Amino acid sequence: MARKRGPWKQGAAISGTRSHRIWVALLLLTALLPGQWGCHTAADPPEDAPAQNGAPAAPSPQMPEDEFDGERSMAWLRKQVDAGFRVPGTKTHATVRRMLVEGLGPTAQVQEFTHQTRQGHLPLANIIATYGPEEGDRVLLCAHWDTRPFADQDPNPANRNQPIPGANDGASGVAVLMELSRLFRAAPPPVGVTIVLFDGEDWGRGLDEMFLGSRYFADHPIGGPFRYAILLDMVGDADLRIPRERYSHEQARAIVDKVWQAAAELGYSQFSASIGPAIYDDHLPLLRKGIPAIDIIDFDYPYWHTLQDTPDKCSPTSLKIVGDVVRRVVYAER
Ligand SMILES: [Zn+2]
Repeated sequence: MARKRGPWKQGAAISGTRSHRIWVALLLLTALLPGQWGCHTAADPPEDAPAQNGAPAAPSPQMPEDEFDGERSMAWLRKQVDAGFRVPGTKTHATVRRMLVEGLGPTAQVQEFTHQTRQGHLPLANIIATYGPEEGDRVLLCAHWDTRPFADQDPNPANRNQPIPGANDGASGVAVLMELSRLFRAAPPPVGVTIVLFDGEDWGRGLDEMFLGSRYFADHPIGGPFRYAILLDMVGDADLRIPRERYSHEQARAIVDKVWQAAAELGYSQFSASIGPAIYDDHLPLLRKGIPAIDIIDFDYPYWHTLQDTPDKCSPTSLKIVGDVVRRVVYAER
């Protein structure tokens, strides 16, 4: 199957020959792991994964009767986009924060923090909710709820200082978690689950001003210990294809195997066996703290960081595929 051109080919700083790209990727990786962060930036071209042998079969999950409803999830996606740009420091950001806190149910709480910018203190808030048993280690499910203040990948240079609608980049991961939250309240999962909606993932122009919420949460965790973490980002693309994100595959292979196995059991071939690009995203601060964290992301999305990242590019079917997979993984835990 031919793949459409990915954003990393169109606009990323990494270009040139393959060997040059690999060298740059290695440099980035070395720079990244001890302390530096980038966002949504592919560091390496995709390639095929080796064949998988002998993966242990997952236990048969005791699934709740209630199904993941793709339309309900899509309604959450639209609600966020319709509210406006979720840019930290704006009125809309505060409105959507209230909407999400209410939507996550009675355990929802807000972890407020600030980021020092040249203009002053930027107020930020991670939104956190818990489900299932309180004792024991927990599964962490996360997404980012803020949206990027500037469409720096827009094909029209006149648009590049405009905020993005963030239907896929932001709202889609949140939309899946909001619908899962409904299921967790209807039928408590067998393991404690913490949902965290990170703020400030897409805020800055530079690598040092992104992943603000996940970095803060990694340094100031609420709850835990965490068995593992699953990050959902850009999971709404109507043309869904999710390869194994490279950092996840290399640093939390068992969790990737577990999730992809669940997708295979459900017959969802959109979860591809190939290894995709390495993405700088909210899973990296968690990995640095020793939490096996994976990123479920379809980075092959032509509207990434453009004004065209709108709900019509997303589909309830894609949200349901991802929601079904995460639901199956969570309810299989013991
Ligand atoms: Zn982004």
